[in-house]
Amino acid sequence: MKETYPIPKWVTNYYEDFRLKERTKCFKTCLKCGETKLISKFSVDKRNLDGRISVCKACRSLEGLKYYYHNQSKRLIQGKEYRDNHKKNRSIYNEKYRIDHKEELKERASKWYQENKEAIKKRNLKYYQENLVACLARRELWRSKNKESIRKYNREYKRKGKGIKK
Ligand SMILES: [Zn+2]
Repeated sequence: MKETYPIPKWVTNYYEDFRLKERTKCFKTCLKCGETKLISKFSVDKRNLDGRISVCKACRSLEGLKYYYHNQSKRLIQGKEYRDNHKKNRSIYNEKYRIDHKEELKERASKWYQENKEAIKKRNLKYYQENLVACLARRELWRSKNKESIRKYNREYKRKGKGIKK
């Protein structure tokens, strides 16, 4: 038969007292830097008795930064390696594909164009209409910037035209 021992009252009292103190304390000592700081300098953690984590916010953010920078170089190198390999492989693959399927691709492109001719025209027209103002403004700007060379070009053009007529 198993004997059970009730927990003495003073133990429960002591524990309750301890918990209350923990929950209501205003200062805490950081396990990392050993400094005693205001409780608000520690992040909230419900699992802890006093409701705060045992490392202060400053130490935590320092840890985070360390981790970040330690891994940053690794991340950058890995990313670059991946991108380089990927790019190389892809361009080799694309080049080979283009050569191997030259005729097929040409045919497919022209077929696609024939099938979508109207849609492409419509899209271009729509784009043009939507951007008409911008287009005109750009043209105006270009004209005003190139006034001299346009005039010269026109003169040349007229002279040549007369020459042909004669
Ligand atoms: Zn600390």
